[in-house]
Amino acid sequence: MKEKISFDQQAEWYRNGLQRPLLPHTDAFKQRNIYIMGPPGSGKTSIGRELARLMKKPLLDIDDDWLEPRWNTSVASKLSELGDEQFLEAEGQELLALDLQNHIISLTGSNPLHSQCMKHLSQSGIFVYLDVSRETILNRCEIMRIDRIVGQRTKTLNDILTWREHIYERSYDIRILIGLNETSKDIAEKIVKQLDTQSQMYESTRSASQMKYQQFLDVVQQGLAPDGGLFISRSFNSMSLGELQRLVGLPYPEVALRVIERFPLGTLHPSHLRTLLWQAYSSFPEEILPVHHLRKNQYLMETFHGPTASFKDLSLQLLPRLMQVATELTSKNEQKRTRLSLLVATSGDTGCAALDAFARLPGTPVIVLYPNTGVSTVQKAQMQTATGDVCVLGVDADFDYCQTTVKELFSDGNFLSDVHRLIPGLHLSSANSINWARFLPQVVFTINSYLQLVGQNRINFGDSIDICIPTGNFGNMLGAVYARRLGLPIRHLITASNENNVIADFIRTGSYDLRHRSFQKTISPSIDILISSNLERFLYLLTDGNYELIQQLFNKLAHERNFQVDGSLLQQIQSEIRGDWTTEKECRDMIRKVYLETQQLIDPHTAVGVHVADKLFKSDDVPILISATAHYGKFPQTILQAVGNDDQPLLSNDISVLLADLQSLKSTTPMHQELMKLPNKPVLHTTAVEATKSAIIKEIKTFLTNFSQQHSS
Ligand SMILES: *Cc1c(COP(=O)(O)O)cnc(C)c1O
Repeated sequence: MKEKISFDQQAEWYRNGLQRPLLPHTDAFKQRNIYIMGPPGSGKTSIGRELARLMKKPLLDIDDDWLEPRWNTSVASKLSELGDEQFLEAEGQELLALDLQNHIISLTGSNPLHSQCMKHLSQSGIFVYLDVSRETILNRCEIMRIDRIVGQRTKTLNDILTWREHIYERSYDIRILIGLNETSKDIAEKIVKQLDTQSQMYESTRSASQMKYQQFLDVVQQGLAPDGGLFISRSFNSMSLGELQRLVGLPYPEVALRVIERFPLGTLHPSHLRTLLWQAYSSFPEEILPVHHLRKNQYLMETFHGPTASFKDLSLQLLPRLMQVATELTSKNEQKRTRLSLLVATSGDTGCAALDAFARLPGTPVIVLYPNTGVSTVQKAQMQTATGDVCVLGVDADFDYCQTTVKELFSDGNFLSDVHRLIPGLHLSSANSINWARFLPQVVFTINSYLQLVGQNRINFGDSIDICIPTGNFGNMLGAVYARRLGLPIRHLITASNENNVIADFIRTGSYDLRHRSFQKTISPSIDILISSNLERFLYLLTDGNYELIQQLFNKLAHERNFQVDGSLLQQIQSEIRGDWTTEKECRDMIRKVYLETQQLIDPHTAVGVHVADKLFKSDDVPILISATAHYGKFPQTILQAVGNDDQPLLSNDISVLLADLQSLKSTTPMHQELMKLPNKPVLHTTAVEATKSAIIKEIKTFLTNFSQQHSS
């Protein structure tokens, strides 16, 4: 399946309002049927038989045990008697009479084409889709001389399969990816495993089982667990190489779907997730996450092609869409209208990316506070030119003041009730950076990049590679850790820090110590982080969910600014990841060196990664994928200083001058399209607010009043 599926098609498929049935091991679930669905030749009958044996449930094969006895003739002769359309209708009608529970039911290949029938069946069970490659199906159909497929008299088999694939893809509740040479028994076991994974609930890193009723959309809605821990799933369904190979050549949103589906999704229907993924990545250029050769054995995973030129876009374009679904679900359950909205303070990339992503959702008001003199030239231009229902306030204060004010507003009863009076049902969200749904899309990055290396013939499928990631909050890194656990052949996983090198030290010594450490402001500001929040998830994963230990470590960090881990855990950490770091000078030198060697420009965060990759693997032929997390165009001053002459005149603060200077550098790395547009975009938000809570509240209320007037008419 290499064709590109248009977004319109996707949107049409979205089974509006349809929730996937929850799959916990409840008695109610145990009564449900499991429908085996798939194209002709996918093995529905034999796999159904194995599954029935394994799950100790009775089996019904629609062809043999339902249609033929009721028709008293073979399905093939019925088809030739009635012709395609009448056959489909007759078949659908027979299934409307089906009233079974607790069965394994092997459908016919054409059952899913009858929508009334599918609706009827969905009430009593879930659809398991046997996703076998097109090539395999065509081969099998030829060998088996299958001649009783609806449509076969007028269309080619390939056309029939393409059409049906669209139907299966929008109908399934659970996908089973099938690689080469898997037996019916293997596949039945995979079904049981995936059913089990999908029925798992989320855990918090800081407490035991009482959290276990939270399913995916609850976790998205809540962000942080009530006990102060982070939501996490230790259950996921790993992939064999054969399954992984099925992803080669698929468009990015389709790879993302197949990866994210390996984690518990609760009531979020896969066809709904697919729509959200296509929508989210429609703001990217054609190549969403391309991989390019840099030098030697080094390749860049270019995660910066999103609308704000930051790797954050890849997860933040999806997050608000998932939050909106979760909010809608709450309104449906509580039968009141709610409206999602965003209130954040920002000092840089996260704020820009969240602003852009939320502003794209219609009817979602966005309020952003930033320090008037505390963001970069490019970031300020990005925010001041933002369009949509946005309120962008430059506050005459530093970032800490903005953040504290936002926190206060979230717990200010008067403010919140005023807001609710202006816009009833407004759900203010903070686009929490530790939201599980913000983390999850990051598992896709290294997997998709690996597939690209295969597609470019840089590696053979199955070869191991190394991964190096400039690390701040450890989200990107944890994504790679999960990718490896899912089955991606990764040899070494490396984190790269700047002078805020607490993680590199931690990996080396087991001591996470902030007591003698001060925050360094560097030229790679997005990884200027001392408390790396996703490290908590990593340690929870390594200790097999030892929440008592995690709670103890992170409480100690909060109160005493340090913690230590002992021998065996430290060994585990060291066997899983390596870490090193880069000084400011080394970072600048690396930007220059890469430019002189290759004429390519890399941003300072990427340079941190490249330096560490060089340092750890001097001469090595294993390919190393380095996460390029920002476009160089976001840091014009740093780049111009790094590659320029020493007698460089003082750098301008004017964005069009800076971008023009960058473009005069004759590099082979193209400028980012969205950044190029910045100088020509109208500046819409120049409101500067004095640093008082009342002034800020006044601006927000004016904005919300206007918003509600526009949206009530
Ligand atoms: C956020 C960010 C990082 C750090 O990613 P984490 O997942 O927080 O480790 C690195 N580089 C850039 C440019 C970023 O914006």
